[in-house]
Amino acid sequence: TSFEGFGLDARLTQVMEAKMGIVKPSTIQSRALVPLLNRKDTLIQAQTGSGKTLAYLLPIVNDLLNIGKRVTRADGTYVIVLVPTRELGAQVYDVARLLLTPFPYIVSGIVTGGQKRKSEKASLRKGVSILVATPGRLLDHLQMTKSFKHSGLRWFVLDEADRLLDLGFEDTLMAIIEVLTRMRVFSSELVTVLVSATLTDNVQKLAKLSLVKPELVLL
Ligand code: AMP
Repeated sequence: TSFEGFGLDARLTQVMEAKMGIVKPSTIQSRALVPLLNRKDTLIQAQTGSGKTLAYLLPIVNDLLNIGKRVTRADGTYVIVLVPTRELGAQVYDVARLLLTPFPYIVSGIVTGGQKRKSEKASLRKGVSILVATPGRLLDHLQMTKSFKHSGLRWFVLDEADRLLDLGFEDTLMAIIEVLTRMRVFSSELVTVLVSATLTDNVQKLAKLSLVKPELVLL
């Protein structure tokens, strides 16, 4: 099997081959692509090394190429990927940047506390279409008024949800989800994706809170 049958934009499959040497979907990718390309809330059980990052980034970037207009910074943030650590954030950001090589007008950014809050705020205010963030920093920026526009959010990804919980981010996650839940009232466009290696009770609780009638992609 190849990526061809999924209906992905050819420029995405080309850049994957050219920049990453990837020509065939991994198991998790071939199972997650269908619900995600259909913009369904999805619970994905996957480990690091399974290709989980591209499993969600591919359909997300594909979606941004198909919203009927050219994405600009002024639109505000379309995608938030929440990660437990700065290291994972840097990895996800690198994959996003590679994937976006043919689309320089789609701006990605990262707020994981690696930089001063002020410079993060400045880049957010200029507009970041795809934002990779750790919970504390994201909540900071969400709570700052006029920090960045996110009313048109289309995708919210909780990556390594089990580690997000293990690292004690539960309260912060609840606060973030509360903000986004309030937003869902105004924006029916939001799709949420939860990725976790393990499905503990706490992960399932988080899934119940954040996902609506999710598709399940389990090991
Ligand atoms: P991840 O699970 O997202 O951390 O990805 C782990 C590694 O697998 C990364 O180095 C990817 O570049 C690589 N990878 C992702 N998808 C594929 C694929 N379909 N074929 C081969 N390698 C892949």
